[in-house]
Parts: sequence; C-alpha cells; structure tokens
Amino acid sequence: LVGGIAILQDDDPEGAVRLLSSRPSLHTVVFAQGEVHGEYRTRQFRVLAGKPTTRTKVTEHGHTFTVDLAGAYFSARLSTERQRILAQVQEGEAVLDMFAGVGPFAITLAKRASLVVASDLNPKAIGLMLENIMLNRTKNVLPMLADARRLDRILSWKFDRIIMNLPLSGTEFLPEAFQLCRPGGTIHFYSLVSAEGEHTARIRELGGTVLAERVVRSYSPGQWHAVYDVRIGG
Ligand code: SAM
Repeated sequence: LVGGIAILQDDDPEGAVRLLSSRPSLHTVVFAQGEVHGEYRTRQFRVLAGKPTTRTKVTEHGHTFTVDLAGAYFSARLSTERQRILAQVQEGEAVLDMFAGVGPFAITLAKRASLVVASDLNPKAIGLMLENIMLNRTKNVLPMLADARRLDRILSWKFDRIIMNLPLSGTEFLPEAFQLCRPGGTIHFYSLVSAEGEHTARIRELGGTVLAERVVRSYSPGQWHAVYDVRIGG
C-alpha cells in the first residue's frame, strides 16, 4: 500500500475490484508490470480498478508527500529510516541529499537542519518535490535538478551530513560525497550488499570511519539493503 494506492503483484482485475470495495481508504488498485528499473529507479503500472492515476498522497510522521509511482521513486518502507536519521540531526546542520527523489528525507530532516540541499536527476521527482515543499510549508529545502556526479563542482559548501540513497550504484559517488562533507561530518550511505563489511575497506581508503552498519531491509535471498553511517576523518 502506498497512500491510497494498492499495488498487486498479480494481474487480477476481479481481485482489484474486491479490494477496492473492501477498503474505503483506497482510490486505485494497480498491477506492477515490471521491476524498478533505469536511472530514475521507476516502475511501470497498469491501473486495474478505481481512479486512473498513479498519483497519491502519503502521510508519514506528520508530513504529507505527493507521490507518482510511475514518475519518480518513493518507498514508504523507508519511513523508520528517515526518523532514525532525523534523531541524529543537530539543530542548524547543513544537509545534502544527493539522490533526493520527491523529497521525503529532505523534508523530514528540514525540521532540525538549517538548510537541506536536495538534488535529483529526474525532473518529475523535482517537480513533485516542489509540490511537497509547498504542501509541508517547508522553507529551508533547496531543490536542485542535477547529476550527483557534478555536485562537487556546482556546490562550494561543505555539509555536516550527507544522505546517499542510491543502493545499486551509490558506491561510485562516494568520492564526490567525501569531497562535499566537512571533516567530522557524517555520510549515510545506502547500498545493496551480500556480505557484512562489504564497503568498509573502500570507506577507510577514502578517509572515513564506519560508525555503524545496519540492515535496512532484505532485497533477495543473500542480498540486503544496508546503511553505513560514516564519519569523515578530521
Ligand atoms: N531518496 C529518495 C527516497 O528515499 O525516496 C529517492 C531514492 S531513489 C532509490 C534514487 C534516486 O536517485 C532516484 O530518484 C533517481 O532519479 C536519482 N538518481 C539516480 N542517478 C542519479 C544521479 N546520477 N544524480 C542524481 N540523482 C540520481
């Protein structure tokens, strides 16, 4: 379930109609036609019942996010993770979200941070992020349509905290993140791994210390999404 949309893994129009009539909170039931794919990490859906849309509103810990399941990545399963990071943010921090999507981490962390720069390559994600900034009356998120590969040349600031949520290929962006983080700052690096400590050597080589490595959720047998909380040397 994402907001008012139920996602079925089976192409079952009759089941979709039954589900829709049994749950008043739903407006649409869709069939997920494929896996999450491509640079934008999106997925294709076919509407099986209800309103013909992939847009919906998701409420999470006092925030509301407009999402479009077909247009930009969003995972409701990361809500606990967003709260975990929020609990670590100190008042007044400058935060960078390098792969910000529709802004759920950025808008959540803006409660404590002084500024959150929220960047993404997908124009639809940035469009939805602007809607979400207005919806939540957030005044300290700076949306940027940019390739994370170029951020270290675009931004001259050093950040206290950086969120890197691109689990399949985030490793290649670690040098840019280290460049953008101040000495003593923190990077939360999400990655798909198949062994504990898989990225520890690379993080050390770049000058970081792994403060914690946690499982966020399982992905497939023998693979899981992990988060590394990393302290930058200095
Ligand atoms: N952080 C968001 C969230 O939790 O909902 C979105 C995470 S999603 C797994 C990864 C995001 O990275 C997608 O929105 C995608 O468009 C974006 N992305 C992929 N490659 C990128 C790049 N080179 N530069 C900036 N953003 C990129």
